[in-house]
Amino acid sequence: MTQLPYREVTAAAYAAAYTAGLRLTGTPDGAVLSGACPRCACPFDFTYVRRAYRHRPGAPVTVPVLCVCDTPHTGRPPGEEGCGAYWNVLLERTGR
Ligand SMILES: [Zn+2]
Ligand SMILES: [Zn+2]
Repeated sequence: MTQLPYREVTAAAYAAAYTAGLRLTGTPDGAVLSGACPRCACPFDFTYVRRAYRHRPGAPVTVPVLCVCDTPHTGRPPGEEGCGAYWNVLLERTGR
């Protein structure tokens, strides 16, 4: 959806729409979240590094996700990625 202009925006529905199709791959440092942006619908991988956030072991982690698709959206500032959409994802630690 290249015709969608870049805009820094969030919406309450983004998190649920994103997690519905989300694939989570655990890494030693955190996780890779593979899903489609709920705003521009572009698929992208988002790398979450656990070290970067302080939290208690076993507690759910809120991960701030922003769209980092490589589709050229109109009006995107130099150095930015994605379409500007951002949202929070709540990750439950499964203890694996
Ligand atoms: Zn997007
Ligand atoms: Zn996009």
